[in-house]
Amino acid sequence: MANTAKSAALFTEAQKYIPGGVNSPARAFQAVGDTPRFIKKAEAQYLYDEDDNKMIDYIGSWGPMILGNNHPAVLKAVEEVIQDGLSFGAATAREVDMAKLVCEILPSVEMVRMVNSGTEATMSALRTARGYTGRNRIIKFEGCYHGHSDGLLVKAGSGLIAEGGTPDSAGVTPGCAQDTLTAQYNNFESVEKLFSAYKGEIAAVILEPVAANMGVVPPEKDFLEKIRKICTEEGTVLIFDEVITGFRLALGGAQELLGIKPDLSTFGKIIGGGMPVGAYGGKKEIMEVVAPLGPVYQAGTLSGNPVAMAAGITQLTYLKEHPDVYTKINALGERLYGGLEEIVKKAGAPCKVNHVGSIGTLYFTDQNVRDFASAKTADLKGYADYFKFMMDKGSYFAPAQFEAMFLSYAHTEADIDRTLAAAAEYFGV
Ligand code: PMP
Repeated sequence: MANTAKSAALFTEAQKYIPGGVNSPARAFQAVGDTPRFIKKAEAQYLYDEDDNKMIDYIGSWGPMILGNNHPAVLKAVEEVIQDGLSFGAATAREVDMAKLVCEILPSVEMVRMVNSGTEATMSALRTARGYTGRNRIIKFEGCYHGHSDGLLVKAGSGLIAEGGTPDSAGVTPGCAQDTLTAQYNNFESVEKLFSAYKGEIAAVILEPVAANMGVVPPEKDFLEKIRKICTEEGTVLIFDEVITGFRLALGGAQELLGIKPDLSTFGKIIGGGMPVGAYGGKKEIMEVVAPLGPVYQAGTLSGNPVAMAAGITQLTYLKEHPDVYTKINALGERLYGGLEEIVKKAGAPCKVNHVGSIGTLYFTDQNVRDFASAKTADLKGYADYFKFMMDKGSYFAPAQFEAMFLSYAHTEADIDRTLAAAAEYFGV
């Protein structure tokens, strides 16, 4: 068993001063009945905890570390920019460079606004859609997570499921939630029904084009196409939340991979290369309603922060100039997720693997996982047991069943094979 004495002592101390000892719930390892590792440093594909345990990192800060931790080019850009000051709260050249870069990479994005988190990005995109259409209601999907703004904490995924309680948060007023309608992922009929029940009232449909917060659930054939069509017909703004998938599933995200153009897109952590960043953007006509051009107010003291922009521009430029990043992380995905699939099959274990490119989930259920209801059939104790075993063997996975595994450019085939060998040992094959 790994020595975790320092992490344990820090967790005891942390709980005295921070709710649950953590600054974001998933980090508490509550969903797997464990206590968290406190991370001291990260290097390429590895994490090191306070007790100096070295682990292969399959979280990558929940996505942004697509080049691996502490990539030398990103690190150098940050070291250089900090010499000139950490924040000005004023317009900078780097913000123009960043906006141009994002608009070049994504044909659906004609204008973009930087914010500081994915939560801010989705909250602002919805406000923009409402301001643009003059309508109030929105449709989201059960099991999709779009951050923690009030109106989106309705049947949300990620940590909200993992904690096993009702998926709605206390402290959200019925007023805030009443305009949020929920449909089922991969069930177009459920969307159609809402459109006919609330004719002319739907401002926006927001979804993860590949869901990753109930574990990874790919969209089935025609699901997104039909949503695109009904949004166009009904004058509803289609928002793809690409906080996880953007710049990962392809340079141009899921929208490039799947060939569907949303009206607005939201992005997050990957744009910041590990610094706190989010962004929302899309059609010029829609984005022009945002202040100071239009009546939809949205602002941020640290938005477009020079350090965050420098890190993000460097990571995005690297991705743009090195298409082999995608070839490599997708091939590693095939190796890892294909390998896990083979192992559970050989073991006759009641498990299923879903994956798209470099993100994937091993579900502890024998059902095909295609929506929130099927994801919830997973045996959470089974996952927790597997998670602890794998952590002890040096593979750091998401501390909850309903999350994705993330691969980076820094991972090697040898890392994957080591992880697969541990998984094979766990499943007894
Ligand atoms: N949207 C999606 C799809 C996400 O996965 C997340 C967080 N992982 C968010 C929004 C919220 O982003 P943040 O945690 O940066 O607020």
